[in-house]
Amino acid sequence: MRSTLDVSESHVARVGRLSVRRALPRRGRRMVGAWCFLDHMGPSAVTRTASLDVGPHPHCGLQTVTWLIEGEALHRDSLGSEQVVSPGELNLMTTGHGVAHSEEATDQYAGDLEGAQLWIALPEATRDGAATFEHHGDLPGVDLNGAEATVFVGAFAGVTSPARVDSDVVGVDLDLRGSTDVALRADFEHALVVLRGRVLVDGVALTPGQLGFIGVGVDEARVEPLAGARVLLIGGRPFAEEIAMWWNFVARTREEIEAARESWTTRDARFGDVASPLPRLDAPAPYWWTSARSA
Ligand code: MN
Repeated sequence: MRSTLDVSESHVARVGRLSVRRALPRRGRRMVGAWCFLDHMGPSAVTRTASLDVGPHPHCGLQTVTWLIEGEALHRDSLGSEQVVSPGELNLMTTGHGVAHSEEATDQYAGDLEGAQLWIALPEATRDGAATFEHHGDLPGVDLNGAEATVFVGAFAGVTSPARVDSDVVGVDLDLRGSTDVALRADFEHALVVLRGRVLVDGVALTPGQLGFIGVGVDEARVEPLAGARVLLIGGRPFAEEIAMWWNFVARTREEIEAARESWTTRDARFGDVASPLPRLDAPAPYWWTSARSA
């Protein structure tokens, strides 16, 4: 069956020094499989000393996926990891119960920075487990006859990323030079986010700043770039658990989120310390603590 693309608009936000187009979560579209957050960041000019510049902050209940298409960024975390990521490489942090990290300038790269930051919600079985960090510099690629696909998470077109995943999810970078029939798992829901160029997905236009959602039951999508295009394809089995998400935390209840916030604010041992020159980010007050604000 072919897709009927459901297009939603991204929300412009600011992360560190960069402007981002937030494709997930949006009102009416909270998740795609276990994917619960997707920022398209940049392109933005950075210097060797001023870049993304997101100071130490905590996460729980999720995996952070950093995927660049231009530039370099430095990851530091409270496990002691210090890792530069470049285009075609994956930085993957599995938070389990809790970890903190920063995103910084590399001291060596100056130029444009562009990429995507994504989160994958962890299932019940591992969301309170141990934190880990992985860097993958060699990811499988497939020539789709019209697109070069790089599989950074999960399995696609016969190849499998070495990255840890705890649920049925897929994440693919499509570098399109011509029309491509993209095979999809019919038991997955999917979304396409255009980073560069513009495409038609089964005849429906999709541009940067939009997310095109394809529900379950679809096994192929025809993606036609107008010229060249760079597109992220994410997907997964619809996430069976109801999540609560606020600031940098993914949990199941507001009480769990408040407990995570309390741990960060009181600097107990849960999230640890990051050896970063940047200032630590303070957690804001949850919106449900005041009646004046809405989600
Ligand atoms: Mn983060």
